[in-house]
Amino acid sequence: MYEVRFHGRGGQGAVMAAQALASAAYQEGGYATAFPFFGAERRGAPVLAFTRIDNKRIYRKTQVYEPDFVVVLDETLLDTINVVEGLKKGGMVIVNSARKPEELDVGVDAKMATVDATTIALEVLKQPSTNSAILGAIAKATGLVKIESVEKGIMQVFGDRLGPAVGERNAKAARVAFEKTVVGESHGHRKLQTAKKWLPDVRGLPLGAAAIPMKTEAGLVGPGSFVENKTGSWKVFHPEYDKEKCTMCNFCWFYCPEGCIYRRPNKMEFDMDYCKGCGICANECPADAIKMVR
Ligand code: SF4
Ligand code: SF4
Repeated sequence: MYEVRFHGRGGQGAVMAAQALASAAYQEGGYATAFPFFGAERRGAPVLAFTRIDNKRIYRKTQVYEPDFVVVLDETLLDTINVVEGLKKGGMVIVNSARKPEELDVGVDAKMATVDATTIALEVLKQPSTNSAILGAIAKATGLVKIESVEKGIMQVFGDRLGPAVGERNAKAARVAFEKTVVGESHGHRKLQTAKKWLPDVRGLPLGAAAIPMKTEAGLVGPGSFVENKTGSWKVFHPEYDKEKCTMCNFCWFYCPEGCIYRRPNKMEFDMDYCKGCGICANECPADAIKMVR
């Protein structure tokens, strides 16, 4: 059995990628399962998805703790998550990155493949949806499934949900990524991230319904604790603001889900420590005063 773990961010389509990979394996007569794991549902927050592929029925239902392959849809996750946790000996990491495998450091020596899925997605799909391109890289780097099966899997999962034209564009993105994927090795030197967890037992819970801010080994929790969660590290794109075009309508301030746009007397200000790059402000701006740039 081959087990694949996808690391992505809410909104990047890791779940559809896992499903399309399962569908590709099924096209080749194999058995496959795919499912996601979310924390709090939030655009930009780290999410996991899993695919298992075998030539016989699959009864294992747990999350994938010891993957053969790890797929990282967003390079910034390498700085915050130990993506290689549990990676099997001889396993491979496939990363959406413009860099070469030997230029990346995931903390351990590992086989690695890289592809600039973001650029491919922008060129082919005209939007930064990297999930289909990364599937082409998986086909190239792992040989788990053929690229033709990936294209069929994409048509089944993306095409059925979003229409055949979208399915075809995504299949093309996978094909382009297949051609451009670089396979190599990386040598890890940096210290691996250790996950900080805080879950209260009954004695740790505040009395009554009102929660209070508390210092824990995972940092500050409770009201106001968001200040320690610098969501600015999540972004691939950031807003570029043109003061000359801005009419001070406040739409961006109103819609920003992170509350990181501030109204100043003659301009808006963006706090890059917390801007997660969702692009909602640029979408909502009626004056075209915000552009998302990589
Ligand atoms: S400033 Fe714009 S891109 Fe950044 S989080 Fe707010 S809405 Fe999203
Ligand atoms: S939405 Fe656009 S025009 Fe309105 S305040 Fe924001 S940047 Fe200015």
